[in-house]
Amino acid sequence: MRQRFGIGYDSHVFGAKRPFILAGVEIEHDTGLKGHSDGDAIAHAVTDALLGAVAMGDIGRLFPDTDDRWKGADSLMMLSEVKYRLVAASYSIVNIDVTVVIEKPKLAPYIEEMRENLARTLALPLNCVSIKAKTNEKMDSVGRGKGLQVYAIASVGGA
Ligand code: MG
Repeated sequence: MRQRFGIGYDSHVFGAKRPFILAGVEIEHDTGLKGHSDGDAIAHAVTDALLGAVAMGDIGRLFPDTDDRWKGADSLMMLSEVKYRLVAASYSIVNIDVTVVIEKPKLAPYIEEMRENLARTLALPLNCVSIKAKTNEKMDSVGRGKGLQVYAIASVGGA
């Protein structure tokens, strides 16, 4: 089996009047993330990592933000669609690892549910889905709580 890797990155800014959603989990906070879809930056970064691993483009190409179909969309649905495309092309997802850089709120109480959501969406065992959160030590705009950044890597086996 040939082993492939893909990297994904996303950032979103706080300030939207809607729930703050990460990996499909609603997180208690006074503001949500801006964005054309639901602003789920973890789902977006993982989607790009998977697409990158198999050189199938990127999330913006598959789900353009000019398309009203994806306005306010559940980003786990987009992730699910990408998983389907990978499986249809005879690839299998091995594992994903995510790092979220966020000053507040603390994500620790939500991490397990987030992992479960990604594992279910990607049909992976829980020990193949990792999500870590850390602060930016109050540095720069992310450190001041303006928004968050997400890094993801995916390992994919297959053709
Ligand atoms: Mg995004």
